[in-house]
Amino acid sequence: MKVLVINCGSSSLKYQLIDSEREEVLAKGLCERIGIDGSNIAHQPAGGEKVKEEAAMPDHTAAVKLVISKLTDEKVGVIRSLTEIDAVGHRMVHGGENFSGSVIINEEVIKAIEDCNDLAPLHNPANLIGVRSCQAIMPGVPMVAVFDTAFHQTMPEKAYLYGLPYDYYKKYKIRRYGFHGTSHDFVSKRAAEILGKDRKDLKIIVCHLGNGASVSAVKYGESVDTSMGLTPLEGLIMGTRSGDLDPAIISFLAEKEGMTASQVIDVCNKKSGVLGLSDGYSSDFRDLVQASETGNEQAKHALEAYAYRVGKYIGAYAAAMNGVDVIAFTAGVGENNAEVRAMIGEYIGYLGTNIDAERNKVRGEEIILSDEGSKVVTMVVPTNEELAIARETVRLVK
Ligand code: ADP
Repeated sequence: MKVLVINCGSSSLKYQLIDSEREEVLAKGLCERIGIDGSNIAHQPAGGEKVKEEAAMPDHTAAVKLVISKLTDEKVGVIRSLTEIDAVGHRMVHGGENFSGSVIINEEVIKAIEDCNDLAPLHNPANLIGVRSCQAIMPGVPMVAVFDTAFHQTMPEKAYLYGLPYDYYKKYKIRRYGFHGTSHDFVSKRAAEILGKDRKDLKIIVCHLGNGASVSAVKYGESVDTSMGLTPLEGLIMGTRSGDLDPAIISFLAEKEGMTASQVIDVCNKKSGVLGLSDGYSSDFRDLVQASETGNEQAKHALEAYAYRVGKYIGAYAAAMNGVDVIAFTAGVGENNAEVRAMIGEYIGYLGTNIDAERNKVRGEEIILSDEGSKVVTMVVPTNEELAIARETVRLVK
C-alpha cells in the first residue's frame, strides 16, 4: 500500500509518501507559510534532490493540492496519479481521554477530536483542517488518526492526576496526558526487538530528546508515566520550553513584568528552555555544545541544567517501575548528540548502565551503548514517527 502521512500545523504541512510493504519513503516534503505571504514548498523524492519553490497557498486545501501535484509531477513525482494513494494517516496531537488508540476517521471521530480542541487549541484545529483538506481532494480514500496522547492513556490515575481539587478533573479533564506517544511506543518496541526480547517482559525508559522532549516509563509494554502533562510544556527543560516550574512563578512574573498569564505562558513555551538559560544564545543543541566547548559559560550551564533534569526523570521513572532494564535515547539530541548523552550518563551510572565512551560517539544509528553484561542496557534507537503512523494506518484500513 502507498500511505500518505500528513502532519498539519496551523501554517505548515509536513508529508511523507510511504510504501508500506517495503517500509520505504517514496517522497517527503514540507509546505510552510500557508495562508501567509511567501508560502513555499520543499519537496524531495527518494534518492533525488530537494526542490524548494515559492507557490501560492492561500489555505491548507491549496497546500494539499500542491503536494499531490508534486507527488504526481513528471520530473519530481513518484506516482502517476492520485488514485495510487491507498490511505492517509494523520498525526493528531490531542485525543484527550476519548482515544486510547488510532482510529479510522469518520464524522463521529472528527466530532470527538473537536471535543478535545480546548486541550490543544493551537494544534487540534490545525490537524483537523488537514483532514478536511485531504477529504476534499481525495474523497473516498480511507484516513486514519494517530494520536500523540494515545499511548499514554494506560497511565494509572496516580500518575496522571495533578494535586488539584478533583472537581477540576471532573469538570475540565485537567490531568496529565503526555505527548510523543507514537515515538515512545515505536522506540520501546524496537528496543525490545533489537534485544531479542518481548516488550511485555521489560521495564523501559524512553528519552525522546528533540526540540520538544519527554521521558516515559514503559512497563511491560504499557506507558505508566511520562513527563509532559496537560500540554507539552511540563517536564524536561527543552529547546525553548521551560518544563517543570513552580506554578506561583506565573502570577509573580505577570505582576513584575506587566504581562497577562497567557503572555507568561508564551514566554515559557517560546523563550525559555536552553534558549532562555543560555541567555538567548541558541535553542539548538549543536550550537550549545560548540559554544560550551569554546568557553561560553552560559551555554555550559544551560546544558548542565538540561542533562541534570533528564537524569532526575530517569531516576524517578526507575522508582516508578521499581527497576529498569533498558534506557533508550531517541530524537534529534538523543540520537545524535553524544556530548549531551555523556552528560546525562553521569547521573545514571548507579543504575548499572556502564556506558562505553567509544560506543557513545555514534550518531544517528541503532547501537547498544552499555558494556556487555551491564545491569541496565542503555541504547540509541532512532525514532520514526511517520513510519509508525503509516503502520497504524495500514493496520486499520486493511
Ligand atoms: P523536533 O522534531 O522536536 O523539532 P528534533 O528531534 O529534530 O526536534 O531535534 C532537534 C535537535 O537535535 C536540535 O537541537 C539539534 O541540534 C539536535 N541535533 C540534530 N542533529 C544533530 C547532530 N548531528 N549532532 C548533534 N545534535 C543534533
